[in-house]
Amino acid sequence: MSIGIPKGTFDVVPHEKDPELVWRESRLWQYLERAIRELVDAFYFEEIRTPIFERTELFQRGVGESSDVVSKEMYTFLDKGERSMTLRPEMTASVMRAFIEGQMHTEKPLHKLFYMGPMFRYDRPQAGRYRQFHQFGVEVIGGGMPEQDVEMIDMLFQLYRKLGLKDLELHLNTVGDPASRALFREALKKFLEHKKAMLSEDSKVRLEVNPLRILDSKEDCDHAALEGAPVLSDFLNEACKEHFEQVLEKLQLLGISYNINAKLVRGLDYYTKTVFEITAGKKGAQNALAGGGRYDGLLKTLGGPDLPGVGFSTGLERVLQTMLAQNVPLPARKGPTLLLIGLGERAENYCFKKAHALREEGVSVEVEYSSKKLKEKLRYADHIAACFVLIVGDNELEKGQAEVKAMESRKGQIIDLQGLRCSILEDLTHALS
Ligand code: AMP
Repeated sequence: MSIGIPKGTFDVVPHEKDPELVWRESRLWQYLERAIRELVDAFYFEEIRTPIFERTELFQRGVGESSDVVSKEMYTFLDKGERSMTLRPEMTASVMRAFIEGQMHTEKPLHKLFYMGPMFRYDRPQAGRYRQFHQFGVEVIGGGMPEQDVEMIDMLFQLYRKLGLKDLELHLNTVGDPASRALFREALKKFLEHKKAMLSEDSKVRLEVNPLRILDSKEDCDHAALEGAPVLSDFLNEACKEHFEQVLEKLQLLGISYNINAKLVRGLDYYTKTVFEITAGKKGAQNALAGGGRYDGLLKTLGGPDLPGVGFSTGLERVLQTMLAQNVPLPARKGPTLLLIGLGERAENYCFKKAHALREEGVSVEVEYSSKKLKEKLRYADHIAACFVLIVGDNELEKGQAEVKAMESRKGQIIDLQGLRCSILEDLTHALS
């Protein structure tokens, strides 16, 4: 019996037959990754890569034990030295760890870091939720200004718009600083304690460990219990209020509209001040494309310097799936520039050598070896969407000339085999289109 893929994971493949799953095609991943690399260059971010697994305590302390991610969804295992390790469920804690360990704060005051890679959460597999998924994210460390919060949001909007996504919505809130949050937490707890019987089982536990998390519960009974509950904005101190007002003002400067959602607190415990999510269209209402916010105390909690931070992450699967759902124009499949077809033993050897030389020049070249029949070789050229084919028989070799044919226009031109190099193919692209 063959062995199947683990539940909640998927392969990224060159061709996908199922139209619903075209987002798994590698050309789309490459296209998205290229757009991201251009974006991070434009905003001047530098890349950071960290291990895929870390010591379990890092996530317990850095993400927070009351979050679903840590309490329910971590891939934790003992290594052969009996140390508890965890496949990273998110990147912020790892980036902070690397920042502290590398003493990066001694280099310069502001660090703008980005990452892209797989994350792991033992979640119930469902549409848009995977156990191995991929995130692009950024962390700005050392920047406490509201402009930095807005640049994050601008960056995501620029990316999504460039990809052609529509119906983008920004949902925004402020969760205050630890002092105002503590006051609010007490008030909320007091309020909900009278309504404990109405709460879902999960929220009964949250009421003890982190009542704020009840605010972003998806359960109807929790929503009902929250009716008339105290609101965080009434507990904000002046500094937090001012920060949030500035964020809103700067968003207006960039023409980015927003919805303030007082219930948005986000799943992770470390956020302070601004938190946000971006959705796209109806489907997006349940599935955020991106989420992020400010985490001014996190670095210190993890034993580092007291520097503010702000960041976001966006799920690559979600972005690709939304692109398909919204029918945005996708990049065309790209075949090799040239397929060499040799007919006869000498011609085959010529093609073998010529492919070597052209590839050295950086030309994308394919050679068909397995069939002896021209018809089959041409079918292969169509199949792989080659731009040009060159058909060489022993006669052509003798004359030193052969025909290059453009597959799309079916136009051809005789060329000197001696001169067959990269530059000729560029000229032919214009001549034969
Ligand atoms: P979070 O780290 O939970 O704030 O999630 C940030 C983004 O990552 C979300 O908006 C999603 O786009 C994506 N994401 C989170 N969890 C998953 C998952 N299990 N499967 C696929 N994408 C996910």
